[in-house]
Amino acid sequence: MIFSVVELVMGVLVAAVPGWFIGGVVGALAAACLALSTYSLVMVWRIHRFEQWLGGPFLVLDPPWQGVWLEMSSRILRLLRTQEKQASMHEKRLKDFLLAIQASPNGVVLLDEDSRIEWCNNTAASHLGLDAQKDRMQHIVHLVRDPVFAKYFAQDEHSTEVIIDGRSSSVINARKLSVQLHAYGDGRLLLLTRDITALAQADAMRRDFVANVSHEIRTPLTVLSGFVETLQSIPLDDAETQHYLQLMSVQSDRIQSLVADLLTLSQLEGSQSPGVQEKVHLPTLMMHIHADALALTELLAAKGDGPVHQIDMDPVPEAALLGSRSELISAVSNLINNAIRYTPLGGSIHLQWSLTPEGAVFAVKDSGPGIAAEHLPRLSERFYRVDRSRSRETGGTGLGLAITKHVMQRHGGELRIESVVGQGATFKLYLPLSRVSSQLD
Ligand code: ADP
Repeated sequence: MIFSVVELVMGVLVAAVPGWFIGGVVGALAAACLALSTYSLVMVWRIHRFEQWLGGPFLVLDPPWQGVWLEMSSRILRLLRTQEKQASMHEKRLKDFLLAIQASPNGVVLLDEDSRIEWCNNTAASHLGLDAQKDRMQHIVHLVRDPVFAKYFAQDEHSTEVIIDGRSSSVINARKLSVQLHAYGDGRLLLLTRDITALAQADAMRRDFVANVSHEIRTPLTVLSGFVETLQSIPLDDAETQHYLQLMSVQSDRIQSLVADLLTLSQLEGSQSPGVQEKVHLPTLMMHIHADALALTELLAAKGDGPVHQIDMDPVPEAALLGSRSELISAVSNLINNAIRYTPLGGSIHLQWSLTPEGAVFAVKDSGPGIAAEHLPRLSERFYRVDRSRSRETGGTGLGLAITKHVMQRHGGELRIESVVGQGATFKLYLPLSRVSSQLD
């Protein structure tokens, strides 16, 4: 600024001095006026150039600027650069923020004051069947048509969540969503969605399990209490009393087996998979299990007044299994006991262990009634039975195959079942190579 004033004064003086010599005071004034007018014209021209510079597409410091113009243009440039930096910082922050919301496992929808979709992340789009681009500015209730949601949306209070069906829900693949609205800003709403399908399924399974256990225990308990009442109220002779006590003992055995199997299952679920430190000598294990199987068929034959089963066992390979002895005994015994219980007396049962390049396989083949194909995938579900009364008659709990399957999974193996109705059944246990050892010491 000082430079411009000095420039102006100098210009006027430089013009006025020769003017004074030529025309005295008048000459000096005329020359000063001329200098002033010229200076004004130069100023107008500079302002015009400055305007053009400001309106240009790229603002770079123009070297011809001097004095106040140079200062003004560099200040403007500095201001612009600072603003640009701030704007790009805000843009980056917004991008990072949206990326973070995108990465969220929960769905997020931002609604404007009129409840229209402003933005939603991919999870919300997949949960609610929205198109993140095309459905922008659409009213949320027009797109989420679940009546439960519409009712919830219409409420003034949204302090709790509601459960609605997910968009990809079908009868087979039902998806459950928890959704909740939260108010924010000036009348805006945040809609959060959470996939709770697994939770809902686990909850349903837990309820089914409790219902099944209660039912399984209530039945023998009802029978037991009936007998107790009979014994208390009716005078019975010794033989009759013994008969009732025998029936009561069967029911209490049932409850005991059920509780024992439930405890086994809960232990299997609540503990870590067995390590490979324990070596279970296969021939010894099978010698004991085979002896137990013979004892069981003799017991059933005596009770049913019929011939025993013919139980053959192929020579057992000299190998050891690496895992939990008690779990492996229960997995193998469950299959053999089932074969004995479901095959009519006099039938045949074949036991075979074989070593393969993939590990070890145990097969129990029986000549029983066999199982229809539709039951095979469900046999290892808890309490699933093909023939409920046959299972009960022979003291079944409906948990044997569930336990066997679990034991196999814990040892990295699996249970496979093959059967054709009328042609018996074959139950096989597959153990991986990592669970088999040929070193027996
Ligand atoms: P359960 O205690 O009822 O025997 P399991 O879990 O051991 O329970 O078996 C489930 C069902 O599988 C049984 O109720 C029975 O219907 C069927 N099952 C199991 N083994 C055999 C078999 N060897 N032959 C025919 N059906 C079988």
